[in-house]
Amino acid sequence: MLDKVVIANRGEIALRILRACKELGIKTVAVHSTADRNLKHVLLADETICIGKPSATASYLNIPAIITAAEVTNAVAIHPGYGFLAENADFAEQVEKSGFTFIGPTAESIRLMGDKVSAIKAMKAAGVPCVPGSDGPLTDDNALNIAHAKRIGYPVIIKASGGGGGRGMRVVHHEEELIDAIQLTKSEARSTFNNDMVYMEKYLENPRHVEIQILADGQGGAIHLAERDCSMQRRHQKVVEEAPAPGITPEMRAKIGERCCNACIEINYRGAGTFEFLYENGEFYFIEMNTRIQVEHPVTEMITGVDLIKEQLRVAAGQPLSYTQEDIKVSGHAIECRINAEDPRSFIPSPGKITRFHPPGGLGVRWDSHIYADYSVPPHYDSMIGKLITWGDNRDVAIARMRNALNELVVDGIKTNIALHQDILMDQGFVNGGANIHYLEEKLSENDD
Ligand code: ADP
Repeated sequence: MLDKVVIANRGEIALRILRACKELGIKTVAVHSTADRNLKHVLLADETICIGKPSATASYLNIPAIITAAEVTNAVAIHPGYGFLAENADFAEQVEKSGFTFIGPTAESIRLMGDKVSAIKAMKAAGVPCVPGSDGPLTDDNALNIAHAKRIGYPVIIKASGGGGGRGMRVVHHEEELIDAIQLTKSEARSTFNNDMVYMEKYLENPRHVEIQILADGQGGAIHLAERDCSMQRRHQKVVEEAPAPGITPEMRAKIGERCCNACIEINYRGAGTFEFLYENGEFYFIEMNTRIQVEHPVTEMITGVDLIKEQLRVAAGQPLSYTQEDIKVSGHAIECRINAEDPRSFIPSPGKITRFHPPGGLGVRWDSHIYADYSVPPHYDSMIGKLITWGDNRDVAIARMRNALNELVVDGIKTNIALHQDILMDQGFVNGGANIHYLEEKLSENDD
């Protein structure tokens, strides 16, 4: 096993990684910014190193400082968590070149999947179903682009190959708008992502977001751990996630899961990863792969009993997976609510001191969070302060437990989106299951009327 790991992240995921390391007897090094001296995992780590000022560029994105921290503490590996440097291929490469293990896939895999045109090409070759599209970058040949759109059928979406975070996309409904839209998306992509490659896809009008969790050991072993439904989104940001996805049968799961596993073996993938799909009219359409652990990983853990972070650590230590596909059984249903320090109506972030705090509890309730009474939420980072996860024998039980847990959770002193989650958990469309990716936005705009 790994001897000592640097946790190159903050907040709840840093604490999550710390807990997994401790369980496996791995020593921990918490690197943190000057604003994060009082983070829970910093207080619990074996060693701590301050790596810079509060701004992420000066600290959690500061590659030399993080690698130096690994050097001075004699650590052997670095876990990037999610966000920050987790999908930065240059970082993965520099970590490995400096003689440390990057807890994640190879830099090559991150690069391949980080570029959407190359990712789609690789996935198509591996037999993963993709959205009908231009099958490669768009050129300046207007006639050809018009022909692509005609073949695919309007509406189409123009997407930046290097895009991320829901940016760099434009929907086109009519041929007259097409050429301008391509030019605009290209110039935006050039300025935002420093890469003006764009491609075209069929725009699916009412899809759900369904994603498959995989684990691979880079030694020929790859398993899938069923799917998550993350259709409750606002501005392409996930708000509530659940597993399994309502309406997906074991046969459908096995079929799409197997395709993803084959793709992992094909590209020699190592570590945890997620294949994101749009799901419409019973069909899966690949949109992108995330080459890291995801925020919503706990719902998968709750229905499979697999500790995904521990598997990441084992694979990074060169061990084969502890599970075969036959070992993975879906049991019950899990839901996750992302609790943010923000106004539940305006969504404006609300950092500051937590004056009173009571966590929820009980059977089937999990609270993954770094906050505590008297903790001050700094203004410099993402506003997520915790993840509330409930599990039940079935979806109704998980919902009932989530309603109770949300009512028990008390976070005073700052504003939170607990009220928004209470609303969603009472909403008939959510309770029915299977709502599409536009559902929450539509509900929110009705509330505003
Ligand atoms: P990003 O990396 O920016 O998250 P994605 O390719 O994952 O980009 O797309 C983000 C979101 O944009 C999707 O979850 C979906 O809501 C929407 N989207 C992307 N491609 C399509 C498509 N072909 N049809 C409909 N919606 C799409």
